[in-house]
Amino acid sequence: MKLSTKIIIALIAGAVVGVLINAFAPSAFAPLDKYLFTPLGQIFLSLIKMLVVPIVFFSITLGVAGLGDPKKLGRIGAKTVSYFLVTTTIAIIIGLILAYAIKPGTFGSFDTKNASFEAEKAPPVGETFLNMIPVNPIQAMAEGNMLQLIVFSIFIGFGITMLGSKTKGLYNLLEQGNELMMYLVNLVMKFAPYGTFGLLATAVGSQGWEAIKAMGLYMIVVVLALFIHSIVTYGGSVALMARRNPIEFFKGFAPAMTVGFSTSSSNATLPISMNVAQKNLRVPESISSFVQPLGATINMDGTAIMQGVATIFIAQVYGVDLSLGALVTVVLTAVLASIGTAGVPGVGLIMLAMVLSSVGLPVAGIGLIIGIDRLLDMLRTSVNITGDAACAVIVAESEAKRIDKSVTQSA
Ligand code: ASP
Repeated sequence: MKLSTKIIIALIAGAVVGVLINAFAPSAFAPLDKYLFTPLGQIFLSLIKMLVVPIVFFSITLGVAGLGDPKKLGRIGAKTVSYFLVTTTIAIIIGLILAYAIKPGTFGSFDTKNASFEAEKAPPVGETFLNMIPVNPIQAMAEGNMLQLIVFSIFIGFGITMLGSKTKGLYNLLEQGNELMMYLVNLVMKFAPYGTFGLLATAVGSQGWEAIKAMGLYMIVVVLALFIHSIVTYGGSVALMARRNPIEFFKGFAPAMTVGFSTSSSNATLPISMNVAQKNLRVPESISSFVQPLGATINMDGTAIMQGVATIFIAQVYGVDLSLGALVTVVLTAVLASIGTAGVPGVGLIMLAMVLSSVGLPVAGIGLIIGIDRLLDMLRTSVNITGDAACAVIVAESEAKRIDKSVTQSA
């Protein structure tokens, strides 16, 4: 049986087991979770997280060194960031339109009096960018600071390109390191079906179904927006800009999507999404290794959708009318908030506080959606990483075209 089939079966089995325990034997959940589900999920999560920092370092360094020309890096960077910004803006707009059309906050009753949310201090986005240059690269690696790690790796790759044959040994070493990491990703993936089963059983088994019933319409709007964005924006851009069959794109990337779904973390899924994009979607390593780690850090369309829908939902529940100016502010701050969201579970909700405050909505409203956010986080993380892969495919195609053109011109 193919690994991706096994993972999908494990996902469904985990969800079914979670639902059944929740419905028929709730008291059995705690022991089963403690001794079976959580350990299975945790082992898998730790195994893939173990590979994130070395993979990002080896592959970006190698990718940049492999490009051979700093101008090319600038061009790929500009295309990547433009795609990220445009698609994130589209994502929020889809979320806003659906939330306005379906009005999830006007059906049912919501307990706003008891809703509360302790807003944690969200990292200021501007500061994150100012701190992009790591004063201590080892510390950046130890803390898993992605943006700093990316910058450091780009510098090393650039240096290797410039020094050419002088650093041949180092280049070979990095190549072997990268090879080794990719081998380990494949090895760790063999455990994925067990891990995803455990993660799903924990996530679904621990849900309060009452909360889900009350928040049903809000959840439907978010899911619908995620779905439309994936099909229309990603499917459409892959078909039009990369001339690739969108069905093949989604099918090829499915193994990474299922892992993103079960881990709810773009960062943790990174080793797998890169591996899958390179193997199944034929994205060259030099492009995948630059676009995907950057995307896992700053490109969160699924998160932006949730933030857009949640803002309108909270405005509707509290009976606040948002002006057109306020909506533009929502779009701008949600783009920033999703850029600032780290690729780990639940952070999108913390950053939502920033969007709400920007238009004077009560941050306590987050208390209404926090109970069901775990499930939505799974789905939006899958969308987040799919956006990175779509970008990688498109950038790869446009770079390949350039090469083709220059070959024909020189012929
Ligand atoms: N869990 C999301 C991710 O890792 C971030 C979020 O929206 O909370 O992509």
